[in-house]
Amino acid sequence: MAVNKQMEKTPMPEQDPKVRAANFEEVASGYTAEMAVNEAQRCLHCKNRPCVSGCPVNVQIPDFIALIAAGDFEGAYQAIRATNSLPAVCGRVCPQESQCEARCVRGIKGEPVAIGRLERFAADTHMNGQTECAVKPVPNGHRVAVVGSGPAGLTCAGDLARLGYAVTVFEALHAAGGVLMYGIPEFRLPKTIVQQEIASLKEIGVDVRTDMVIGKVLSVDELFEQGFEAVFVGSGAGLPSFLGIPGEELLGVMSANEFLTRINLMKAYRDDYDTPIKRAKQVAVVGGGNVAMDAARCAKRLGAEHVTIVYRRGENEMPARREEIHHAREEGIAFLFLTAPVKLLGNEDGRITALECVDMELGEPDASGRRRPAEVKGSNHRVPADMVIAAIGNAPNPLIRTTTEGLEANRRGCLVVNEETMQTTRDGVYAGGDVVTGAATVILAMGAGKRAARSIDEYIRGKEA
Ligand code: FAD
Ligand code: SF4
Ligand code: SF4
Repeated sequence: MAVNKQMEKTPMPEQDPKVRAANFEEVASGYTAEMAVNEAQRCLHCKNRPCVSGCPVNVQIPDFIALIAAGDFEGAYQAIRATNSLPAVCGRVCPQESQCEARCVRGIKGEPVAIGRLERFAADTHMNGQTECAVKPVPNGHRVAVVGSGPAGLTCAGDLARLGYAVTVFEALHAAGGVLMYGIPEFRLPKTIVQQEIASLKEIGVDVRTDMVIGKVLSVDELFEQGFEAVFVGSGAGLPSFLGIPGEELLGVMSANEFLTRINLMKAYRDDYDTPIKRAKQVAVVGGGNVAMDAARCAKRLGAEHVTIVYRRGENEMPARREEIHHAREEGIAFLFLTAPVKLLGNEDGRITALECVDMELGEPDASGRRRPAEVKGSNHRVPADMVIAAIGNAPNPLIRTTTEGLEANRRGCLVVNEETMQTTRDGVYAGGDVVTGAATVILAMGAGKRAARSIDEYIRGKEA
């Protein structure tokens, strides 16, 4: 088949920025079949497959792309699905630019092949035309418990279920999906997509129990007493960090976690839901990651006139995906770089009215390799705001490690594991995802869930022998 020499990726249609800034519908509508085949024909089918080495869940990229180029879209989906439990999710939110696409040879002189967009196309096409029933694996008689239904837990559960294990996922919230449901907004990742992915795991036998807080309703020890032979902890990093400055108790100041959960999980943006949420006029979001971008873009969609990202480093140091920064800018979000709040100011009703900020300058690199910001003395100034959202990081909730004997954590509160096997410091207990790494990415959490599933299988078969 002739290679398409086009240097750029085939563009994906998007809603106009002005229109989408006022709705929660998905920003990008995905490739048509014609666009997907055109893009798939850009792949060179490199013998050494550099792109595959950039994928933490080992998707056989050239194989699925060849199937798309040949018009076999279902075959492409099945090829992805062989190693990836959540292809429609990954195609949308994976940081492809630093994973698979970063290693694509077409990226040396032009843009890499749009691997994420093609993965999304194959998954969406499958979901739209889904007719066949999933074949349930033959049970092997062993039971495994998974704590948390984010990408780490779901991947571990899916891989074990495919090996014949009876897997029960215990989820603290009333809906499964973790950050995919309560963090990442509808306009980037529609919740029906997440629920369809979860439904396909249920079809192969994964049992999902919601409203089950492990460490409160049941302990890890009680799970073993109930006959589970191994436990995987994928409880994420859902404990928000606060600004730690005067005025944080003012009305209208909240964490991005709370703001996004009200919007995504409890649908506060819809008139037919009664979740309370304040619709502010001037919103300041403190932080520079994906969470800050999502919070800012949600605030805009709720009707705020001015939304400003306040970030203490410069644009180049922002950890958010470039695509998210670009989309936020297109939607009218303003950026105040090298600026940090030192105090929050309120009115007599105890409501936030402004942030007192200082200018920052960048000094020597810190442990993360990014240049350390330092305050410029005497640069205090005010930024008006009637809502402040803190998006400055998350840590693992201590509930599980404080209620389970033998689980060691590091000083950031992350569970200590053997990185190859994902086994914790307690026999039979494995962990992976944000609870081990701190806030990271969907695909790294999935990779960890996959490694843990493999080790759990070896552990249980080892006991049998
Ligand atoms: P989570 O997704 O956090 O899931 C953990 C689950 O465990 C939750 O459902 C929680 O309720 C449950 N749980 C916690 N404690 C208990 C308990 N005691 N008992 C039972 N259940 C429990 N990553 C990307 O790759 N791309 C992005 O674009 C991106 N955007 C993001 C935007 C936002 C707003 C946020 C917050 C994160 C984003 N991330 C993104 C990061 C990514 O979502 C996480 O790294 C990933 O979800 C981690 O997966 P996990 O399975 O470890 O944990
Ligand atoms: Fe790339 Fe993510 Fe798909 Fe892997 S799962 S091929 S990293 S988009
Ligand atoms: Fe195709 Fe790029 Fe992978 Fe080569 S590196 S096989 S061009 S996707």
